[in-house]
Amino acid sequence: MSRFFSEKYRALTPYTPGEQPQDQAYVKLNTNESPFPPSPKAILLAAEAAAHLELYSDPTCHDLTERLAGHLGVSPEEVLLTNGSDEILNFAFMAFCDAAHPAVFPDITYGFYPVFARLNGVPYEELPLREDFSVDVDAYCGIGKTIFLANPNAPTGIALPRSEIERILQSNPDNVVVVDEAYVDFGAESCVPLIHTYDNLLVTQTFSKSRSMAGARLGFGVGSKALIRDLNTIKYSTNPYNINRMTMAAGYGVLEDEAYTRMNCAQIMETRAYTADALRKRGFSVLNSSANFLFAKSDRIDGAQLYLELKNRGVLVRHFTLERLKAYNRITIGSREQMETLLSTIDTILEEHA
Ligand code: PMP
Repeated sequence: MSRFFSEKYRALTPYTPGEQPQDQAYVKLNTNESPFPPSPKAILLAAEAAAHLELYSDPTCHDLTERLAGHLGVSPEEVLLTNGSDEILNFAFMAFCDAAHPAVFPDITYGFYPVFARLNGVPYEELPLREDFSVDVDAYCGIGKTIFLANPNAPTGIALPRSEIERILQSNPDNVVVVDEAYVDFGAESCVPLIHTYDNLLVTQTFSKSRSMAGARLGFGVGSKALIRDLNTIKYSTNPYNINRMTMAAGYGVLEDEAYTRMNCAQIMETRAYTADALRKRGFSVLNSSANFLFAKSDRIDGAQLYLELKNRGVLVRHFTLERLKAYNRITIGSREQMETLLSTIDTILEEHA
């Protein structure tokens, strides 16, 4: 730390992203990326856009916003596109949290929430997940704070039904409820249809997972026009050109190719069921996932050790050291072939371990 670093950030512990190793080729199942390339339409439009990088991108993101709003069945004024959904989540902490509106979220969830809270000087409370890792919905009812819920949750993959989130929305009419739907396309119920009923609802989604665009950085929020206006105030006060031309074009292209996205999601869900079954046959406990990853623990090998032994053999998964999570590993659903490699590598490790 330099002697110039602002006092207000000195205690900040930044978010630790999943490893993005450059040293060797891994079967990479650690950051919930898609095993499939982006849609050919996305690639084509991004390449065309690259020819005009001398010009700033459109700060209003006009064409993509219209296209996305049409896709979601909402109006363009109810959508804000951002640089990954991380950006809209940070905007939400900036816009809707303060000392009078502290944040609240589960103790086990997306690790960026507490970082955003601390970055923005927002007080926050973490409510424990139940023993079975499900969200205790009653604990959020009438809590009177700005609520952040990942649905499906990470790293568990467990989803709440929309009706349960509705109970939280109804019982907190004077507080914003942010529903982070980064993984919603893999089998959970979206809350987007509720935005016209609840003016306190902000739904966030991403192009990183189901749309194979993690490297492009594109996410968005959907909510009432008033909420979106507030978020635009934050956007235009930080970085009006937050989405670059190539990403904007790629986003448009992938929305033109919805069949491709649907096909990929269906394949991932099928591979998820296959992998969960195969892991259970090998003695693993696997949480019921509605996301593109599984959270699993072995009855024969410690979580940290399995992570390391897999890594040594070229298979990368994500391990968390938190007490309640340390027996588990979070395994991204890759291609069927990648999962076969994972399973045979696990077999080798377990045999050696026996
Ligand atoms: N929410 C959750 C629950 C996530 O796991 C992630 C991905 N790490 C994000 C949001 C952010 O994703 P992105 O910024 O790529 O849209």
